[in-house]
Amino acid sequence: MPTTQTEPEPESAHVPGHRAAPLPVVDPATGEAFDEAPDQQPDALDAVIDRSHRAWHDWRIDPAVRSTALRTGADAVEAAGDELARLLTREQGKPLTESHAEVARTAARLRYFAELAPRARRIDDGRPVHSEVRWRSLGPVAAIVPWNFPLQLAAAKCAPALAAGNTVILKPSPHTPLATRLLGSVLTAVLPPDVLTVVTGREPLGARLTSHPGIRHVTFTGSVPTGRAVAGAAAASLARVTLELGGNDAAVLLDDVDVERIADRLFWAAFRNCGQVCMAVKRVYVPARLHTDVVEALAARAASVTVGPGLDPGTQLGPVNNAPQLARVTHLVRQALRDGARAAAGGHRLPGPGYFFAPTILTDVPTDSPVVTEEQFGPVLPVLPYRTTDEAVDAANSTGMGLGGSVWGTDTERAAAVAERLECGTAWINHHAELSLAQPFAGAKDSGVGVAGGPWGLYGNLRPFVVHRPKEART
Ligand code: NAD
Repeated sequence: MPTTQTEPEPESAHVPGHRAAPLPVVDPATGEAFDEAPDQQPDALDAVIDRSHRAWHDWRIDPAVRSTALRTGADAVEAAGDELARLLTREQGKPLTESHAEVARTAARLRYFAELAPRARRIDDGRPVHSEVRWRSLGPVAAIVPWNFPLQLAAAKCAPALAAGNTVILKPSPHTPLATRLLGSVLTAVLPPDVLTVVTGREPLGARLTSHPGIRHVTFTGSVPTGRAVAGAAAASLARVTLELGGNDAAVLLDDVDVERIADRLFWAAFRNCGQVCMAVKRVYVPARLHTDVVEALAARAASVTVGPGLDPGTQLGPVNNAPQLARVTHLVRQALRDGARAAAGGHRLPGPGYFFAPTILTDVPTDSPVVTEEQFGPVLPVLPYRTTDEAVDAANSTGMGLGGSVWGTDTERAAAVAERLECGTAWINHHAELSLAQPFAGAKDSGVGVAGGPWGLYGNLRPFVVHRPKEART
């Protein structure tokens, strides 16, 4: 297994000044550390951000240079695809086929933003003036990502920021630093020095990055509590903040739903990446008369799924990524069972090494149980009965989060009308969590601030610059 320790790396990919003890990286399939990454000190950020600022002066000038570099970067990511995917599976846990798909999405994001350019626009309000809106880059951007999709989310942040003419300091989660370091090596080889820098380490590295006065935009993906801390830290320098935060997406099944027809799709919308997806289905609401059918259909799938190490061919579901997350999932399930819920499938940790949890379908769950009201972010799905559609919509909208939601039924017009009533950023009909690169991605309520994705993601990394002059030029 190649690792970043043996990789030749351009100097600008990583900062010097590690602490003596490096950061151990654990394989969640074994629970054992298999490699390590630098545990960089927050003080090292001053030099990194200074270099990033200097690199910005040239990088912001020519969009054609940036576009070519991003396209070349996408090719380089694909060329390193096998190595990136294996390393991602090793540290994150997901099946190798999913890691390959994540690498492909990483390259696709680089290519998509390579082709996007902001549009200048004339404003004509009838007055005798020319007013033209142009777009300028911001400066060094701090990009902070979680451990569930380290590569894809890194590209979702870096590609629009770089395409817009900014430089980037990218910080992965301490649970998944290695594939991101390799991605950094691949990309810095095709970018000018210091345009992209990857930093790794324990907190307070992220906290220092978000409060640093040299950072002009903080683009963060992670949990709601950390998002609040990031917004507070960035307030000191009034850096722009884009926050993509947690979700507790509901799937509402209507009474004309064909249960067998949708069961596979619904199951994987909840359990892909071991449920560690911000916009996974995290609660299912079912008409009372269909409740038993839906629980049985989902439980049959949960019981038959192949759970194992991501590198084993045939594995469909890997381990939970890390020990604290496994403890949280275990706690939420135990609490629900204590409160009267029943596990129609799973309900427990799997014996043996590694952070494996049996895919779990919960029924008879009290509606105020934390496994319903909070984001579980693991292989656990509560299925709740409802009597009226109004009751289901109210329940779907009852949490503080509003990332996505879906409505499932045979009459798609009726399902679409119910979906209109969901308080969320994206509502799907008869599927869930499908995204296009060209669409905006933004959560409602506590699920986010600002917009990522599509041209909106590019403009989120730019500021308007207006040139205003009289129509009749006079000297
Ligand atoms: P987290 O909030 O614990 O950590 C996210 C990142 O922030 C990590 O890199 C972490 O090291 C860093 N961090 C921690 N404390 C910080 C601080 N004080 N200042 C700055 N950075 C800090 O989240 P996690 O457990 O890594 O990821 C899971 C969460 O991410 C879930 O809530 C999930 O829904 C969310 N998520 C959201 C999206 C989205 O697009 N909305 C996508 C993926 C994941």
